[in-house]
Amino acid sequence: MIGKDKICAVVAAEDARSMLHQLADALWQSRTVELRLDWLAGDREIESFLRRFTASRLHAKPDVTLIATCRRRSAGGNYSGSIAKQLLHLAEALRAGCTWYDLEIESIRQCPAELLDVLVGEGRRLVSAHFFQAAPRNLERVAHELNRSGADAIKVAAQCELLADGVKVLRLARAQRNVVAIPMGDAVLPLRVLALREGSAISYAPLENATAPGQVSLKTMKNLYRADRLDSRTRVYGIVGNPVAQSLSPVMQNVAFQARRINAVYLPFLVKNLRDFLGAIKPLGVAGFSVTIPHKQEILRHLDECDPLAVAIGAVNTVVVRTNGKLCGYNTDYVGVLRALEPRIPLRGSRVLILGAGGAARAVAFALAEAGAVVCVCARRAKRAAALAKAVHGQVIDRPQLRSEFFDAIVNATPVGMYPRLQDSPLEARDLNCRLVFDTIYRPRETRLLRLAASRGIQTVSGLEMFIAQGTAQWKIWTGQRAPADIMRKAALNALQREERSQGRR
Ligand code: NAP
Repeated sequence: MIGKDKICAVVAAEDARSMLHQLADALWQSRTVELRLDWLAGDREIESFLRRFTASRLHAKPDVTLIATCRRRSAGGNYSGSIAKQLLHLAEALRAGCTWYDLEIESIRQCPAELLDVLVGEGRRLVSAHFFQAAPRNLERVAHELNRSGADAIKVAAQCELLADGVKVLRLARAQRNVVAIPMGDAVLPLRVLALREGSAISYAPLENATAPGQVSLKTMKNLYRADRLDSRTRVYGIVGNPVAQSLSPVMQNVAFQARRINAVYLPFLVKNLRDFLGAIKPLGVAGFSVTIPHKQEILRHLDECDPLAVAIGAVNTVVVRTNGKLCGYNTDYVGVLRALEPRIPLRGSRVLILGAGGAARAVAFALAEAGAVVCVCARRAKRAAALAKAVHGQVIDRPQLRSEFFDAIVNATPVGMYPRLQDSPLEARDLNCRLVFDTIYRPRETRLLRLAASRGIQTVSGLEMFIAQGTAQWKIWTGQRAPADIMRKAALNALQREERSQGRR
């Protein structure tokens, strides 16, 4: 065991004062902390930090494990001094209260193990190897070399473009105790979260500055994903798409699992290659997933079963992985549309205009037609509009016709008006001859289209309603239980508000 807490907070700053502040903060959140001495701006700043650190007595807190790292540039760190100086800093850090030091194999190769013991002293040695370009073919050979270098624990960090490579890195941790396995890169971010579950001795999470690609912040790792509480029985869910970094689904779904005390985690899978993700389902024990752009159509080809409505819409946004490994697809955007509109207007017999003829427009059109509405489609590509109108027995409306028509509701299913193009609107105020406007966009919550509608006294519905409803429907499909909709709504709303504040929009 390296430290009492398995999520190791990474402290990294350029000046001694900030580093000490970060350390004090980090110790409130984890009893295992890595000090990245190489991030400090040169030898003098390192010495200054170690003096302040000794005087602070922060190292004397009970059960604290501090790991000193002063990684040289040649091994992907920031330290530009000699190996001799590097070892002196590490020795000083151990004297100041660190119990472990992380030393890269490149430095060890140039310094015999016996000499290291004399130079660095009594600390416990974590011997590390980093591969910033790609994972090496023979990871076992790498582990073998690290084990032979007098290590108390070993660490392998490798850049992985594919989940398949990341899974191989994690296997090292299954095979041996005291291994720190770190798949690096955005595509394998979920594997960083799952590393502890797979047996990694610790997992790193930065307090402020990311020190490696694809790191997850300490707060997110602890509070959102609860990475240190996942075990072999944890059910893994996630969202599969490209991009996914901005998705609100992880916030919304994880909060629901936590509220209902279900041992499950929901992770963002940045997937360029769908086959790579499908290959990782079994080794990671994925029990279900959401699907977003650009895989909503392609996933259909890989399913064993599919809800007929999802087949008709031509898109799947929810997949259940059955215990026998079979994949079963659904479309809950459809449910989302109905839940957003049904409480506000009677849909049967109403006349609704849909702007756009893409994936969301298809879900809206099928939902409305199923509910008995007359669907009208207006899209810039006439052929696509005609195909959608035909599929739902609706009609095509050309743009110039709009002003002379009346609709019970108008639904925007195009991305026009979405962040960052906040000033765009698919329609002008004078085109809004209707009782209700529903914008499927939820970034921002209030689009220009909705503001124009509100200014004319027209009822408005934000895409957030649909987003929450499609998410609660997914949760129910996966768990068989009623979703805690209020909790999920609050979590999504808070996340959106935080985002808007950070962008200076509110
Ligand atoms: P999509 O499949 O790419 O379809 C987009 C549609 O909008 C297409 O018909 C496209 O026309 C049209 N369009 C794009 N730019 C346009 C422009 N400048 N002027 C006029 N038409 C334009 O995308 P999607 O998946 O349907 O997503 C569309 C919107 O739905 C997104 O804004 C997304 O936020 C929203 N959405 C919301 C939820 C929710 O839960 N609230 C769920 C899913 C989607 P072309 O075919 O000519 O390109």
